[in-house]
Amino acid sequence: MNVDKLKQTLIQHKAELAERQQRVARYTRHRDEPLPPDFAEQAVELENEETLVALDNEMSQEICQIDHALRRIDADQYLECEQCGEPIAERRLIAVPYATRCIQCANGISARAITGCSR
Ligand SMILES: [Zn+2]
Repeated sequence: MNVDKLKQTLIQHKAELAERQQRVARYTRHRDEPLPPDFAEQAVELENEETLVALDNEMSQEICQIDHALRRIDADQYLECEQCGEPIAERRLIAVPYATRCIQCANGISARAITGCSR
């Protein structure tokens, strides 16, 4: 398995999330100003504060999960299930690069309980 490649994927995904989050933050701070043209399309979906806050929380949690996975890569624990210690299937990590548990454990309990990523 090419962990370096997955690491790059994670870092890139995190950067995209961080950028989207900044755009949301700008929008919530300047609600009375006209939207920048490149934001108009998304604004249709992001019309109320509640939606924006939910979206922001979702992105924060995903970033937290990515950071968690990156720490596991650096600690050389990335391929082990955080809960039972068994190897995590390669196709699972490719599909969900920030997965920290094998599919059996993942079906058992909430990821938030393990990663501390809930807000
Ligand atoms: Zn497991």
